[in-house]
Amino acid sequence: MKGALKDQQHSTRRLTHLYIMALSTIAIFAISGQCLIQYSLFQQSSDARVINYAGRQRFLSLKLTMAVSALIIPSDPIDHNSRVTEAKSTLSTFIRERHGLMYGDPLLGLPEDNSQEVTQLLNSIEPNFQAITGTVTNMLNRISEDDAAAVKTPLSALAPYVDIVLAQVEGFVTTMDNTVSQYQREAEDRVNRLRIIELVLCSLTLCVLLLEGRFIFHPAVSKLEKTLSALIQAEKQIVAHVGELERKNNELELAFDEAIVAHRKVMPHARVVALGRYQVQGSRGNYYDVESRQVNGTTVLECKCPMYTRNMICSHSLAAGSLHSALLRQSHGFRQPPINFLSPDIGYEKEG
Ligand SMILES: [Zn+2]
Repeated sequence: MKGALKDQQHSTRRLTHLYIMALSTIAIFAISGQCLIQYSLFQQSSDARVINYAGRQRFLSLKLTMAVSALIIPSDPIDHNSRVTEAKSTLSTFIRERHGLMYGDPLLGLPEDNSQEVTQLLNSIEPNFQAITGTVTNMLNRISEDDAAAVKTPLSALAPYVDIVLAQVEGFVTTMDNTVSQYQREAEDRVNRLRIIELVLCSLTLCVLLLEGRFIFHPAVSKLEKTLSALIQAEKQIVAHVGELERKNNELELAFDEAIVAHRKVMPHARVVALGRYQVQGSRGNYYDVESRQVNGTTVLECKCPMYTRNMICSHSLAAGSLHSALLRQSHGFRQPPINFLSPDIGYEKEG
């Protein structure tokens, strides 16, 4: 019994440990999944920024080309100085953002971890970039020098600069286009990788839940069923024992009653109410009043029981009679204490 209890406690402890382990594992999977998702969301916003700036490189190179080309068109509706300012600001943005894309820029929110493919692509257009920015810088210098000298730069002097820029920009735009695609592919790869990791985590979580069902819940439920049926069995046994006890108790009560009845049959119990007035116990334990009366000069002891009414004689009247004569034999100064009198040798008569 003690060994079984110990076994039970041991296996309950084992199940509890397993359960805690399973829950912890699921919690670890959930936390890892959440960390991955948070990191991935951060990465995605960074990817979006990088792709945007890479796209802007195409736009800025074309904008710069347009601005410098406009400087040699006599019919340009925008005035000369505005074109120069536009070219200057576009040039500085173009240079800064390219630098940010290549080496990272915290202010622009650009990371510095380009893949090998992207680095190669960006490096491959470095000559184009240098040619464009160098030419535009020279061109703008020439214009500002002439402005300082209050001379209007002849369009024919600016045309060669524009030719160089036009020659370089096409290669630059094409390669930047490829770079944007490459960035996009890498971002998609990251999303796909995350998707796979999430699927693996989900599958692992499901596996743990399945194992939990097989090795924790199933044994726990069958143990519970066993314990329950043992309890029911025990209850049945208790009910059976109680029935047995009740039956024995009833038998004992019956035997006791019979013994009491037998005792009363042998010795009816009588008590004195007053001289001439008695109470005699019947076989059922009730008392019958018996009174002495003078009938035709003789003393008769009259009982109230049905037996006496019928036969003018009964065991009670007989018992009271012997008690009465015993009392009369005693002194006249007899006082009436509530004595119990067990009448001797009075036979028993069955009452009606
Ligand atoms: Zn009687």
